[in-house]
Formats: sequence, structure tokens, C-alpha cells
Amino acid sequence: HDGPIETDAVIVGAGPVGLFQVFELGLLEIKAHVIDSLPYPGGQCIELYPDKPIYDIPAVPVCTGRELVDSLLQQIKPFGATFHLGQEVTTVQKQDDGRFAVETSKGARFLTKTLFIAAGVGAFQPRKLRVDGLDPFEGSQLFYQVRNPADFAGKHLMVVGGGDSALDWALHFATRGEDGTPKARSVTLLHRRDGFQAAPASVTRMRQLCDAHDMQFLVGQITGCETRDGRLSGVEVTGADATTRVVPLDMLLVFFGLSPKLGPIAEWGLDIERRQLKVDTEGFATSVPGIFAVGDINTYPGKKKLILSGFHECALAAFAAAPFVFPDKKIQLQYTTTSPKLHKVLGVE
Ligand code: FAD
Repeated sequence: HDGPIETDAVIVGAGPVGLFQVFELGLLEIKAHVIDSLPYPGGQCIELYPDKPIYDIPAVPVCTGRELVDSLLQQIKPFGATFHLGQEVTTVQKQDDGRFAVETSKGARFLTKTLFIAAGVGAFQPRKLRVDGLDPFEGSQLFYQVRNPADFAGKHLMVVGGGDSALDWALHFATRGEDGTPKARSVTLLHRRDGFQAAPASVTRMRQLCDAHDMQFLVGQITGCETRDGRLSGVEVTGADATTRVVPLDMLLVFFGLSPKLGPIAEWGLDIERRQLKVDTEGFATSVPGIFAVGDINTYPGKKKLILSGFHECALAAFAAAPFVFPDKKIQLQYTTTSPKLHKVLGVE
């Protein structure tokens, strides 16, 4: 894409509220682009409690976080929103023509008439390993996610962490992948204790591979690093016995989970109160006309961080945004039950 994508609406955040914003905008015939730092939609529901039951979604007596997100994705399908995942919205700048220039960490650019911030508790980002001297190797020898598995083939690899991601990737690189990707030269799994928060079958498999000397498991923490000729050559691992030894390696993969960061939103010139965007409750407008904030990211007197409150906010924000998109159109409330026009936009004629 050469020029920016010109659109009526950009939604920052694909959590439950960002997803429902697509629906409410869609009913008013406003097309949206949705951006999320996570590689999949669902926000907290998917990242923090995919299999836990939710009991307070109106008219849904019980559903899991994942089921709620699946239903929302199905519900918004008619509106054909475009998703831009795995990238964070970094800058938002008001243009002279009143539109907003929006840019993501992957270089995607938008020019939009309205912006909906549904950023929840912030962008989910990998928790970093804090060890002096390691940061410069991020992206070359230190990784927090696997973008290209082939990069690790034939390398001496250390995987750090005790959850599913750490176990899955350690197993992946210790055995020839089903897709034929070559193995790492050696795999060392490092975790601070001999106990895992991962699928029991993965743990069993890991122990089998260790017994067969196809990989190694160490208990300990990285406390330092060694470099040679400007490259990371090894890490110092301090074990439970408080002794420190150097483990040589080529590549380091760290899976400490994800934590939300408010990040760049604080720099967009919006009125913020205790890490929340202040809005009016008439249209959930922020202090900048054309920018709206819905869901957990906003604050107003009486705010409750509930999904159902976020859904309501989406409806009013869509109506408040319509004049920015259609300055000359009078927008009327219509019922999905009876409106032929809404049936048309929903594709249920
Ligand atoms: P989020 O779900 O937080 O989604 C925001 C998204 O925005 C994230 O995916 C994030 O990566 C993305 N984002 C943020 N900043 C950027 C950026 N700059 N660029 C790109 N993307 C960005 N609520 C209920 O109503 N009922 C319950 O039973 C319930 N149970 C819960 C149980 C747990 C354990 C937790 C943690 C919460 C629970 N909640 C419950 C609260 C509910 O999950 C939140 O209210 C809801 O997820 C808020 O939705 P949201 O879309 O506003 O934000």
C-alpha cells in the first residue's frame, strides 16, 4: 500500500467492545478498520480468560470468553470490517481537513474521519526479560515471539518460561516439525521452578525428550549474559542452589506472558485521568472532537468496567460519530426487527 487507507472509522482495539463497535457503526452504514496489537481478536476475553464462563451478558445465561468473541465475530460479519492485527497504533494526528492520520507499528497508515479508542487496559505486549546487556540483541538473537521458525533451525536455542508457549516452542524445535521445518541444533528449556502452567501432555512429552537427551531442562533464572565479537554467546543461569553457570547459546526465546501497556495513547493529546480517557456520557466523545472512547479505557461518573456497559457505549458513540461521516444526513433510530434498511445492511432481506 502506497498512500494511506482512507476510511470513515478506525477502531483501536479488537476486544469485545471494539468488536461490537463495528456492529453499531455498521448499522449506520459506517465501515471500519480495526487494529489490535494482539495477533487475534478478543482482548481480555481471549488473552486472560478464554475458557472461563461469563454470566452477565444480557440474554446469554452463560458463555466462555472465547464463545463470546466467536459470537461477536459472527454478528459483525455482515459489515466486512478489515482487521489489522499484530500491530500497535502508535500515532494519531489531527489533519487540517479535520481527519486523523493514524499509524501502526508495522507502518500501516490511515486517514479517518472518526477514531474509536476501545483499547481496554492497554495494548497487550510481551513481558520482557530484564537483564543488563541483553536488550540490544532483541530481534537478532533475543525474541519474545516466533515470527519465522526457520530462523531457529540448526541453532543452539534456549527457551525460557513455564507456560504453553514456552513448552510448545521447545517441543517444536526439539523435534522435527510436522511441516518439515528442521530442528534446532540443541534445545534448552529454562524455567524458574520445576512446575509448569502448561498442558500436562506437553510436560510429559518434554520429560520424555529430556530422558532421550533430545533436549535439556534447567531450573533457574537468567542473571547475566556473555558476548563475543558483538554477539550474544551465552547467558548466566543462577539455579535454585544459588550457583551460577554459563550456558552457551545462539538464540534466546522468552515467554513470560503478556501484560497490557497504555503506551502511546497517553501521547495523543486526549484528556486523561488515572490512565483512563475522560468522555461525556451523551456520545462517549473524548476531549478531541471526532475521537470517541468506549469500554474499559474510558472513565465518567459512575463508570463500571463491564462488557455490557461497553456495548451500550458503542451504540451511543456510533450515533455521535455519524455527523462526522455524513454531515448532511439526518440519522434516525431504527429497529433491527422491523427496518427494511437495516435488514439490507445486515444482509437478511
Ligand atoms: P479489552 O478486552 O482490554 O481489549 C482491548 C484491546 O485493545 C486489547 O486487545 C489490546 O491489545 C488492544 N489495544 C490497546 N491499545 C492498543 C494500541 N495502541 N494499538 C493496538 N491495539 C491496542 N466483564 C464482564 O462484563 N463480565 C465478566 O464476567 C467479566 N469477567 C472478567 C474476568 C477476568 C479474569 C477479567 C480480567 C475481566 C473480566 N471482565 C468481565 C472485564 C471484561 O473482560 C472487560 O470489561 C472487557 O474485556 C473490556 O473490553 P474492551 O474491548 O474495552 O477492552
